[in-house]
Amino acid sequence: MIDAYSLEPWQVPGYLDARDGRLHMGGVDLVALAEARGTPLVVYSEARIRRNARAIREAFSAAGARTMVCYAAKAFAHLEVLRLVRDEGLGVEVNSGGELAKARQTGVPDDRIVFNGVAKTEAEFAQAMAPPIKAINVDSLFELTRLAAVADAHGLTANVALRFAPGLAGGTMPGNDTGAETGKFGLLASELPEALALFRRGTDRLRLAGLHVHVGSQVTDAGVYAEVARFALALVAQAEARLKRPLDHVNLGGGYPLNYVKSPNTASYLAPNLGVSVIAATLAKALAARPDLELVVEPGRAVVGDAAVLLARVENHKRRGEVPWLTLDAGYNVIIESFSYKWYFHALTANRAEDREVGRFRLAGPLCDSGDAFHDVDGEGLVASLLASEPALRTHRTHQGLLRRTLVRLPAYRELPRATTPGDLVAFRDVGAYSVETMSANNGRPRPEVVMLSPEGAVSTLRRRETYADLIAEDEPA
Ligand code: PLP
Repeated sequence: MIDAYSLEPWQVPGYLDARDGRLHMGGVDLVALAEARGTPLVVYSEARIRRNARAIREAFSAAGARTMVCYAAKAFAHLEVLRLVRDEGLGVEVNSGGELAKARQTGVPDDRIVFNGVAKTEAEFAQAMAPPIKAINVDSLFELTRLAAVADAHGLTANVALRFAPGLAGGTMPGNDTGAETGKFGLLASELPEALALFRRGTDRLRLAGLHVHVGSQVTDAGVYAEVARFALALVAQAEARLKRPLDHVNLGGGYPLNYVKSPNTASYLAPNLGVSVIAATLAKALAARPDLELVVEPGRAVVGDAAVLLARVENHKRRGEVPWLTLDAGYNVIIESFSYKWYFHALTANRAEDREVGRFRLAGPLCDSGDAFHDVDGEGLVASLLASEPALRTHRTHQGLLRRTLVRLPAYRELPRATTPGDLVAFRDVGAYSVETMSANNGRPRPEVVMLSPEGAVSTLRRRETYADLIAEDEPA
């Protein structure tokens, strides 16, 4: 367990920085913005999303691979974000009929949309075939026959990619690992012949266009990407030999890691030392022998993850022994991954952004359960109960250390300016992926407003703040 991450060099010149002691994004004073708009408030930067999208596209073109970069909409499927990434030349990866409808609504061409999912409905299949998108990534043998049946019933055609589980540990958390052969995703390599038999029997409504592998999110090891490519290319060769024709593309998924902890010496999945140019070069090298095969990739987190901050107000404080606690007006109702995956989002005091006198705090959210905190309540509780139930562990320091490192996944304390107090504004960095998508109105807390800053500093509302009237109306549908 890491005890605390210290005040770190979090500033990103020209994007996130401190001016006159206040946190700014792209030159806009976030403290003033929170005062004007209220909290909690999620603030996105258009410039950052565009920059990230462009950097990924350019990394692949510099690496020399013919690549279609499809933004994984699940990271944040807002129409405006889809428009931005479309403008930057990206396609879109969708995971539901809803995301497909949004991608189409924003004018993403059908031949730049790929559709993943482990429970696609017949209606979603029909939607993805009318007109046909670039690829429906089929997840199982059953799905393949179901898709064929839907195509026959409606007289539609589909471009298909078969998704495979490579049996590689790719993700950094069990819940983010999607490549295991024992998990819920994709076909096994041993199922390829049976899948190909369906295409060879000559259904002319389904065309096998490619293969797909995605091993997980926040994949920090370049070697894993090389392995994924090797695995996929071996299957491509098998498929081509049986079908006696080349495939069009190989889709190697997303998972590009974001550096959530910028302080040095943090050897952790949260502080990866792996940039997109290395990933692009790795994949391009693996595909060098097949220049005819288009590479499709599906990054999500790397496009929007670092493009937003959450601003939360300190509403309460207390001491527990020597430790000061601060309670905020946002918790896992707004950033659920801090709770569900014990994800670390770096916090700083936005209105004291240049204070150098540091104190250690426990930070908590406003919800009614003790797990709504920004340290690992579950993990710390497990360690405490193991130590209580096994006296031998209490006398063995090495075992205690091992228990803590294994079971406790967040630092015990946050380091903030010592003066941080109710009324102050705490900013959580890097909340742009998978947060707004999963916000809830838990405990009768309306979902916060989400805004976007234009490169010129204009503020537009992406989602308006919910009101009590909205909550009441949900319970009294017309
Ligand atoms: N592709 C697929 C199939 C996924 O399931 C995901 C994430 O869950 C992604 C792409 C995007 O992953 P990331 O946001 O880590 O790039």
